[in-house]
Amino acid sequence: MLSIIVPLYNELDNLDPLYTRLIPELEKLDRPFEVICINDGSKDGTAEKLDEIAAKDSRVKVIHFRANCGQTTAMMAGFDHARGDIVIPIDGDLQNDPADIPNLLAKLDEGYDVVSGWRQNRQDAALRRNLPSRLANKLISVISGVHLHDYGCTLKAYRREVMEGVRLYGEMHRFIPIYASWQGGKIAEIPVRHHPRIHGQSKYGLERVVKVLLDLLVIKFLGSYQTKPIYIFGFLGLLCFAISAISAAFALWLKAFEGISLIQTPVPLLGVMSFLTGVMCVLMGLLAEMLVRIYFEGRGRTVYTVRAKRNFDAL
Ligand code: UDP
Ligand code: MG
Repeated sequence: MLSIIVPLYNELDNLDPLYTRLIPELEKLDRPFEVICINDGSKDGTAEKLDEIAAKDSRVKVIHFRANCGQTTAMMAGFDHARGDIVIPIDGDLQNDPADIPNLLAKLDEGYDVVSGWRQNRQDAALRRNLPSRLANKLISVISGVHLHDYGCTLKAYRREVMEGVRLYGEMHRFIPIYASWQGGKIAEIPVRHHPRIHGQSKYGLERVVKVLLDLLVIKFLGSYQTKPIYIFGFLGLLCFAISAISAAFALWLKAFEGISLIQTPVPLLGVMSFLTGVMCVLMGLLAEMLVRIYFEGRGRTVYTVRAKRNFDAL
């Protein structure tokens, strides 16, 4: 089964065209499908319109949020409710083209776990949207080591297994391919069409770039050190202790051999400050280690991800 996920916030005028474009495209595929529409607290009648569509077509499923929670959260709700073995999120404003879905599926069938859409010809404001997004994409590519051109494109296809255990916060839906790749998934990218927005307004501005960069910091940290935070905190702590020791020795040397009083230079201060910072770092590392244990053991999570098991069911 195929699950299409559509996050919607105030997209009333796009619903009819979306329905008439999307459904025939899915019917052509000749396999069962569901379209999960998440109404992310819309205030413009999107809710009523969705209910209307759902009443006449049971393949369209609707989740109404009480309040606006953001696109990533809406998508997360969609993933949680999806029953398909393949999940494809798509924007509800028709900027993504449903006609690209067969191409994504074809690529997935070549043996990939994630196929990422790349809006090669992006139709958004050049300076305010496309340029910052280009730079952000470059940075994400370098930092994550997973090389894609367009993380922000909603239209991507995922095999269900790689979504297992993925929780999304903030702006993180764009990082799912990175999670998947870090866990051993195979990632591909294909160009997809992109159209200018005709109805309604974009919900984002420049401030999203800042959020994305902060999220990048978080996932880089989680990806590299989630199971061993003491390695990074401890390393910083030890570095601080080393700086502290050198400063202290230097200050004493100045005092003993050059006759420079301890309060005449900032060196002793540097020694004390870096000693305290070192203590903090180590303590935070230990705290983080406790948190990691609660995170993994409290909810039956494992630090490894299993792709398949053999002969275990016979027990
Ligand atoms: N969206 C949402 N909740 C929000 C903001 C956006 O569900 O808080 C949906 C929106 O309705 C659209 C998709 O996410 O279907 C992409 O949003 P938008 O078109 O504003 O983003 P852009 O294409 O400008 O990056
Ligand atoms: Mg859009």
